Amino acid sequence: MFYSSSIEISRSALAHNIRFLKAQLKPGTRFSSVIKGNAYGHGIEEFGQLAYTCGVDHFSVFSADEAHRLHQVLANKATIMIMGYLDDDELSWALAHDIEFYVFSIERLEQAAKVARSLQKPARVHLDLETGMNRIGLEAKEVAYATELILNQPGAFEVMGVSTHFAGAESSENHDRVTAQLDRYRRTVRSLQQKGLQIKSLHTACSAAVMAYPETHLDMVRVGIMQYGFWPSPEIYQRYMGVSTDRTDPLKRLINWKSHVMSLKLVPAGEFIGYGKSFQASSDMLIAAIPVGYAWGYSRSLSNQGQVLVRSHRAPVVGIVNMNVLMVDVTGIPDVSLKDEVILLGKQGNEHITVASFSELSTQLNYELLTRLPMNIPRIIVD
Ligand SMILES: *Cc1c(COP(=O)(O)O)cnc(C)c1O
Repeated sequence: MFYSSSIEISRSALAHNIRFLKAQLKPGTRFSSVIKGNAYGHGIEEFGQLAYTCGVDHFSVFSADEAHRLHQVLANKATIMIMGYLDDDELSWALAHDIEFYVFSIERLEQAAKVARSLQKPARVHLDLETGMNRIGLEAKEVAYATELILNQPGAFEVMGVSTHFAGAESSENHDRVTAQLDRYRRTVRSLQQKGLQIKSLHTACSAAVMAYPETHLDMVRVGIMQYGFWPSPEIYQRYMGVSTDRTDPLKRLINWKSHVMSLKLVPAGEFIGYGKSFQASSDMLIAAIPVGYAWGYSRSLSNQGQVLVRSHRAPVVGIVNMNVLMVDVTGIPDVSLKDEVILLGKQGNEHITVASFSELSTQLNYELLTRLPMNIPRIIVD
């Protein structure tokens, strides 16, 4: 193969996770698949098409470039909603292709009205409310003004939704803040409806809120991390396992990141391995070189820390992770040969390398590690 590693994405695992997640919702609650950050590292194009075959028809992205990538593979088969960055230059592309987008400034709304008039097509907007996260939502005054703007220009807008985002639903530490946000959201929505604004859908919940705050589900939920098989936090996982009768994790990971043994070498006791003196062979060692390094997303902080799987055994990383190569100790593993499959993340036989172990060691969050998997590693769909 051309590439020194590849990332397999499991169709059956995704279908399983989506079934589990939909079972947490009331019938009729819409499921939006959040695929920002290159589908949390899974690849927007590959993951988007796969999710579509699993029955997903609504996608949330962060920016216009992500919307564009998904639109290229799904065209008008699914709804695409931009939750963040959209430049004035892309507004007419978005409108022309029925891409929905968040509005969190009056300028955005005024620009959208202009484009809507020139294209003679309504802008499909979601009013994103500031309820306490203090990031990007519309403030109370802006909401009032936006409502007037919309009501005064019939035909220019379709209010596809009113949204907000919780500041940390994955930890009960934030319980008061989250419930206050929901209260504030509800009050604002009621006042908008009283003014006569037609709102197609109310949505607030991310993965953690889906699990911990069922009252936030409303008309639609926006689920990211859990569809990929990861829990938003250990707390949300333990909370679920505490009430579940089944003792096994209901989520399955989609990713298997694979490479292979590029070179094997016997290193005599006492020699240092790799750059510098961070690792010294305490006995004669068999060392395998793997053609993946920090340029391929394998963090340098996993030097002398990480583990990979070879022939269903764990092999520890020895020495410093290089730009394109890392070395592992395969001394005790029977029959290791050149070209043997190596698992950097995922499973082989009964062994797993979890993102959690991986990211604990490198002190990265699940979310961060996944989204940092380089775009140019090929994603391959498997069953
Ligand atoms: C990322 C994001 C989500 C999904 O969050 P998860 O924790 O991955 O489920 C939902 N809504 C917004 C606005 C987001 O930015």
